[in-house]
Amino acid sequence: MTERIFNFSAGPAVLPISVLEQAQREMLNYKGAGMSVMEMSHRSKAFESIIQMAEADLRQLLNIPDNYKVMFLQGGASLQFAMIPMNLLPKGKGADYILTGSWGQGAIKEAKKFGAAREAATTADTNFNRLPKSEEVKLDPGAAYVHFTSNETIFGVEFEEEPSVGDVPLVCDMSSNFISKPIDVSKYGLIYAGAQKNAGPAGATIVIIREDLLERAPEGLSAMLDYKNLAKNGSMYNTPPCFAIYICGFVFKWLLDDVGGLEKIHALNKEKAKVLYGAIDSSDGYYRGHAEKDCRSLMNVTLRLPSEELENKFVKEATAAGLDGLKGHRSVGGLRASIYNAFPKAGVESLVEFMKEFQKNNG
Ligand SMILES: *Cc1c(COP(=O)(O)O)cnc(C)c1O
Repeated sequence: MTERIFNFSAGPAVLPISVLEQAQREMLNYKGAGMSVMEMSHRSKAFESIIQMAEADLRQLLNIPDNYKVMFLQGGASLQFAMIPMNLLPKGKGADYILTGSWGQGAIKEAKKFGAAREAATTADTNFNRLPKSEEVKLDPGAAYVHFTSNETIFGVEFEEEPSVGDVPLVCDMSSNFISKPIDVSKYGLIYAGAQKNAGPAGATIVIIREDLLERAPEGLSAMLDYKNLAKNGSMYNTPPCFAIYICGFVFKWLLDDVGGLEKIHALNKEKAKVLYGAIDSSDGYYRGHAEKDCRSLMNVTLRLPSEELENKFVKEATAAGLDGLKGHRSVGGLRASIYNAFPKAGVESLVEFMKEFQKNNG
């Protein structure tokens, strides 16, 4: 392969070309330091300015209020499944989980090891192809927090708006639609996201937490699992994922300067998704979307074909045609096209052409 292909991978996922090129330019000699960012001390002036700039740009992008801390941690979104209850779920209290897919199930499974985590709603009965209606969500007003997954990467189901939870802190796994649209951070107690879907390479996990919640951590928590300690040390209690943070910083700058902010990227994301869902809906039922129409993800488009055999054939032929990473997750089957921020519209158009051609030949 001598050219870049269209990469529909769910994560780690496609990054903007300009970000890769800038990293390439700076690989051997970062701004005259005579070394790459991978090789320098995290206590150096150069790295200090990298992490500060990344945080400042993320704050600008998401309009993060001053009473929130931003942290760049490790362990992926999966470690947050445990750190959230460890820090925020005191003994004698419960936490509510709204389950709309496998990642939410993963989160509650971990939380149950630390405290009274309960299902406030689940759409498992329809294989997570929809969001719960508000009357299906049974919230405990005394809960320590409510957890939800804003975009379920595997099933392709996305919340357009946050569930309303009153005064209970809202905790969100935003891994797969982080910085894909504007949000009101002040509605949240804690937001977390593994970087490798929309924000950068694997290795960094971004946590945005309202400061008052830092006080909830029980005494005696391990230093590396204690938000208060990590926040106090500005994500540098130990060596942070330096290179991943550096690349995330480029992605934030790309969104601010090249794209023009989150309103703009949201519009582009809606455009791309419309083209793809449009192709599904106009295929006379040959392609069937997994998610119900009112909760279709702008990031992960899940669909089925008339048979598993055809699905396998599709994936094989698409891969050969330079459309990579389309095989669906085993819990849904079929295909999944992940079209995150950095995925180009031309790739979506190319897939739609391929879909039409495939249907013609295999209809
Ligand atoms: C990918 C993903 C995860 C898991 O992330 P890791 O960083 O691999 O732990 C969790 N939640 C959602 C919504 C995801 O998309």
